[in-house]
Amino acid sequence: MNKLYLVIPCFNEEEVLGETAKQLKKKMNMLIQSGRISSDSRIVFVNDGSKDGTWTLIEQLHASDALFAGIHLARNRGHQHALLAGLMQVKAHADAVISLDADLQDDIDAIDAFVARHDEGFDIVYGVRRMREKDSWFKRTTAQSFYKLMRLMGAELVYNHADYRLMSRRALEGLAEFGETNLFLRGIVPLIGYPSAVVEYERNERFAGESKYPLKKMLSFALEGITSFSIKPIRMITTLGFLIFAVSLVMLGYFLSLHFAGRTVPGWTTIAISVWAIGGLQLLGIGVIGEYIGKTYLETKARPKFIVERMIGVGSWRDGSGEYADSQLM
Ligand code: UDP
Ligand code: MG
Repeated sequence: MNKLYLVIPCFNEEEVLGETAKQLKKKMNMLIQSGRISSDSRIVFVNDGSKDGTWTLIEQLHASDALFAGIHLARNRGHQHALLAGLMQVKAHADAVISLDADLQDDIDAIDAFVARHDEGFDIVYGVRRMREKDSWFKRTTAQSFYKLMRLMGAELVYNHADYRLMSRRALEGLAEFGETNLFLRGIVPLIGYPSAVVEYERNERFAGESKYPLKKMLSFALEGITSFSIKPIRMITTLGFLIFAVSLVMLGYFLSLHFAGRTVPGWTTIAISVWAIGGLQLLGIGVIGEYIGKTYLETKARPKFIVERMIGVGSWRDGSGEYADSQLM
């Protein structure tokens, strides 16, 4: 039987927390009663430096029922960091962890399917939004173009998947190996590997409170996603520099022929050549430097080179508990 932990980042969510707790408690108790998850499963709220009464509410919830637990972060670090903090804190205690938002925009009935897929042996189960008609037109189009752009930039994302997902303990151990400070979880999780599955669900509107993701945060999130996953923008500069430099060589021939044919005013040839050749060379130079910075950037991430999924006859494999020998992760 699985010990299931729910991890919920909360930033100024006092308006929604009561109702969220009520609905999640019902869901968890149903799962416990039907024997699908163990009775020491937990609902963990991560208070991401809220300015309102969120933490007090979490404390009250915990006092009322041991099903509820809380993690208090020292300050607001943003959704991704709060989520990671929660996942890392609980990973040693749970067999599987599901992350979801406090506003219950993600249909919690999908949790049943998540658990079922995990029982079938999948380590990572991605919640995928079936449609986005309920979002505003603006949010829908920006989100869709974001996925397209990310794919173009070389980060493989699961389409229409936000951070509603189940991860097994070993998948979380894998995640812990990624030492990056630029956090973009939905780009990192597919890099872990392990068998994964997809569960579709409908996304609802926020039932209370306001979105904590205004346009400014969304843009910086998108930028974080692109820049922490690829050095393609740098490569674009190199390509551009190369092209302009090539054009400048052609132009050079053209300008010189004009010069010798005597069809220019004095001084024009020199200026025209300088602008093109120097401009192209500079861009090319920046691009080359960028290539090296890009390499350094990727190196400083110190990402794990590989995560071993299974070994036969090497070390010990303690079955059932989800624990494995130290030699498993290298
Ligand atoms: N959140 C957080 N820290 C932040 C901003 C948001 O922990 O700095 C949490 C928030 O409480 C919610 C989740 O992240 O549980 C998603 O936020 P929200 O629903 O506002 O985003 P949206 O659904 O509008 O994209
Ligand atoms: Mg929301």
